[in-house]
Amino acid sequence: MQHLLHLSNKSMSNPFALDLRNEINTRFSVDSINMSYSDWVCKNTTLRSAPFNFKRFPFQKEIVDDLHPNLHVIKISQVGLTETQIRKAAAFCARNRGVTVLMTFPNEPMMKKNSQTRIMPIIENDRVFNLSGGKPIRSVDIQQIGDSYLMVVPATEGSATSTPADFVMVDEVDLSNQQMVGLLGSRMQASSFRIMQQFSTPTFENFGIHQGYSTTDQREYFLKCDCCNHWQLPKFTKDFIHIDGLPEEIKLTDIDTPMIDRYELQLNNVVVTCEKCGSALDLHGGKRDWVAEFPHRDLARGYRVRPFTVSTLTPAYIISELIKYRDRDFLRGWYNTVLGETFEESASRLTEAELNPCFRVGDVPEGIDYFIGIDVGSICHITIGCSAAGLKSGVDVVEFIPVLGDDLLARVKALDEKYHFKQGCVDLFPEQTLAKQLFDATNGRIIPVHYTGTIEIADKIETRKTLQVDRTNHLDSLANLVRDGLITFHNYGQQKEVIKSHLRDMVREKMGEKTPVWRKLTGHDHYFHSLAYLSTSVKFYRGEFVGHKIEEARTVLAYGAINLGGQSRANLWGHQSRAY
Ligand SMILES: [Zn+2]
Repeated sequence: MQHLLHLSNKSMSNPFALDLRNEINTRFSVDSINMSYSDWVCKNTTLRSAPFNFKRFPFQKEIVDDLHPNLHVIKISQVGLTETQIRKAAAFCARNRGVTVLMTFPNEPMMKKNSQTRIMPIIENDRVFNLSGGKPIRSVDIQQIGDSYLMVVPATEGSATSTPADFVMVDEVDLSNQQMVGLLGSRMQASSFRIMQQFSTPTFENFGIHQGYSTTDQREYFLKCDCCNHWQLPKFTKDFIHIDGLPEEIKLTDIDTPMIDRYELQLNNVVVTCEKCGSALDLHGGKRDWVAEFPHRDLARGYRVRPFTVSTLTPAYIISELIKYRDRDFLRGWYNTVLGETFEESASRLTEAELNPCFRVGDVPEGIDYFIGIDVGSICHITIGCSAAGLKSGVDVVEFIPVLGDDLLARVKALDEKYHFKQGCVDLFPEQTLAKQLFDATNGRIIPVHYTGTIEIADKIETRKTLQVDRTNHLDSLANLVRDGLITFHNYGQQKEVIKSHLRDMVREKMGEKTPVWRKLTGHDHYFHSLAYLSTSVKFYRGEFVGHKIEEARTVLAYGAINLGGQSRANLWGHQSRAY
């Protein structure tokens, strides 16, 4: 459809030709083979009844034009990117015959909200998406544009594996189910386009969009200083932000209201300045360009948006958001959505530095009291450790064993022959029957754990053959063992990296007054849970938990039991523990 551009000015002055032009304008889009997507969007779509343009956010132009089949964009809030992604997706439908674009959002509510408030108005209002006549299919999850379709789906089970697509656009990758995002690519096998573009505010390092972007050519939006011609990447750091009266030793990220008062900081006047000559940078009118860190990488394209990628987000805005997020006790949210950076508080995710010292080589410690933790799945993850006098004395983990679910019961029985477990914990769900079998096979020494409630450990052995455990507290205990240097890992063989990645797959999220919650990143977190069951079994056996009423009796009983020999003492313990 390349018409209008070929009508000469001369023919336009002819009243007949003008009529013809109007008719073409009504029946067809403004298009030509060489027209860029950004031009097409400006010429054919509107925003509040006026033609769309990139004047406010010029950085978007290159991203809209980019049809790289493997594109990753790190974005932030307030820069209009979701809006332009939608126009790009709709433009792709309109400019190509019979294609399917799949746009995904993390979940059903986000998908519906975006579809109803952003996508449907654009498609309905702009004539270019309604040229074919008749009654196109239009609903919250499907928009017919000519003979193409824009499908809007949540990145959840089912949606990832059904309809084939030519172009998959994933919004908010980091909030989406990672396995589903992985599967989305497979929907394009039959397509000649096979374009997959992912957009997200970042969350954690080497996860989601941050991980994807790291594989790309890594483009950043540079700016040339009008004064000294120095090209630079303006960031929210003291190299670019000077605040009169703010002492040298105080970081920008430490600014709070008392500090603003104490040093009488005037923030509305703060500007972004050249890192070299100190003159004010012109974020809007200055010369800007996307510059790749690794220009030779042509397999994956990446764009990273930061607050000063645009001219509309001032240092004063960034600092006022900092204060708001800190007041809500959600500093990570500020780093992620305002700065566009990953963030890991020391208490949110176990670090490499905390984990590395746990891994030991050489002699495997020998203990008297052995415990077992089991994470159940199609592959179960068993950990076995010894602990001389409870968590406070530390736990030495001596076995890390992956085993098929079908073999679990037999394997645990064999291990029990060897170690005579004092206690153990296993998840009650999803295999309740298996969990109960383990309980019965060990005379109640291995106890199914049910995550529920806010009591650290509630003993429901008598009535339900389970422990009810506060999940946050249960997982905190394991994380604290690592941080306090009270747990060591032995005999891990080739599994060191696997164990480490499982232990780094859980993040502790705290938002405001709500109780913190441990959230999984990819779901490959089995040894984390297995080790947490191990530590909870030690904790329960020794009575090391809040609300444990008969601590003394238990301790006496436990020490008394040690004097008995072999299997019998374990059996005795099993009986006694249920009898009290
Ligand atoms: Zn300069």
